[in-house]
Amino acid sequence: MNNTTHTPSSAHINRAVVADTKKLHLTQLPIPRIDSCDQLLIRVVVAGICRTDSFVATRHIPVNRPTTLGHELAGVVVDCGYETDFNIGDRVTVDPSIPCQSCHGCLSDSQCYNPKTLGIDCDGCFADYLLVTSHVAHHIPETMTPFEAAYVEPVAAALGIFNTGIQASDRGCVLGKNRFARLIRNLLRHYDFQCLPEDTALTECSLDYIIETGLDANELGAALNALIPGGTLVLKSRHTALLPWKARDMVLKNLRVHAALAGSFSEAITLLQQRHIHLPEDQIRVVPLEDYKQHLLIKPESEVHKSFFTLKGKGWPACVD
Ligand SMILES: [Zn+2]
Ligand SMILES: [Zn+2]
Repeated sequence: MNNTTHTPSSAHINRAVVADTKKLHLTQLPIPRIDSCDQLLIRVVVAGICRTDSFVATRHIPVNRPTTLGHELAGVVVDCGYETDFNIGDRVTVDPSIPCQSCHGCLSDSQCYNPKTLGIDCDGCFADYLLVTSHVAHHIPETMTPFEAAYVEPVAAALGIFNTGIQASDRGCVLGKNRFARLIRNLLRHYDFQCLPEDTALTECSLDYIIETGLDANELGAALNALIPGGTLVLKSRHTALLPWKARDMVLKNLRVHAALAGSFSEAITLLQQRHIHLPEDQIRVVPLEDYKQHLLIKPESEVHKSFFTLKGKGWPACVD
């Protein structure tokens, strides 16, 4: 608990990458102010760039009002309301799915019916400062780097696959050659799941599950064909392309489609802290916020690197102002 208010002075600037209905631009916004007892003001240190941000930047995912992009972050608390479990100086990351706290799902401690997503429905972390309700913030241990902290969100998102009923003894494979597909394969191996090579597994047509990471229409047909009767197609990408489903194909094989949003943030933090999941330094690409167009509007050339905007240096800041 903390009763101190420590709002940064207006001498500090708040740069933000903002999308509106027509364009994407870098601008300066007022530093947000805490106006409720359960809020945190976070100084963003680094912010990961992911495909969802590009979908927003290119308006494949539309925003209704000018919105600051970004949902993967490491930051330091610079101000907090009196009803939070955080203190000024705490290192944090944030779950970008923000529950409404008033629907039946929220009131019965299950999944929110109307969550808002950071960087789409409300202002995100491609900015110097971010204001969030403390319920979505997670403490980051001292031993983790800011890049690992900002990587918690993709790891937690990937962990969602384990909520779909797939079993370690099942025959399964992950579709895709992208970085997220590799992360999912690493998690499956870590938890002793079989993870068959994509090319051979698809031709054998004996899979209990397939996890997609960006399916197109052609791949969908091959995937449905490769599943055994009663098999599961796990949807894990947030691609916006329309897919041609035929109910008949699904029904005749008794297939299941299971979409997987995210798993546990605490588990993701532990996996990264204990280095069961690695973010090798040579795969980190550091990008100044000013280069936002290059990294959000153009398809990335390399799937090897994970790019991060650095808003306050590459390490944790020594002081929190
Ligand atoms: Zn992401
Ligand atoms: Zn809710």
